[in-house]
Amino acid sequence: MFVVTSEGVIATDPISYVKRDASATYLAEIKKVTDKPVKYVVYSHHHFDHIAGGKPFKDAGAIFISHARAKERLAAFKDPFTVIPDETFVGQRILTLGDTTLELNYVGRNHSDTSLVMRLPKEKIIFAVDFMSVGSFPGPGMIDS
Ligand SMILES: [Zn+2]
Repeated sequence: MFVVTSEGVIATDPISYVKRDASATYLAEIKKVTDKPVKYVVYSHHHFDHIAGGKPFKDAGAIFISHARAKERLAAFKDPFTVIPDETFVGQRILTLGDTTLELNYVGRNHSDTSLVMRLPKEKIIFAVDFMSVGSFPGPGMIDS
């Protein structure tokens, strides 16, 4: 997901683990929608299949945000292809950019112990990835939760 606000863009996961140039394509697609700069990149959780490859966003000046535990894990992994978050939080952070408010909520362990639920309260949109649905059987992607 990316959100265009009056003051810039909030993007989520660069998603370039397998296809290493996907984040450059992602950024190019954002630029087709708006000429505003990407101010923030928010990591949904710390898994590389979602967050690897953020360098084009970092080079463009974006501030990276994640749950505090995600930064701890990424700092330990030292993956050269993954941007270490600049800012972290525990519990909830309210991110306001221009006319838009995006809630970043950690609601407890699910697919990982760093997974966020992002909510745009005015627009009534929720963005969450890889969450296990109630009543479903956990698959092999539950290795760290
Ligand atoms: Zn995951």
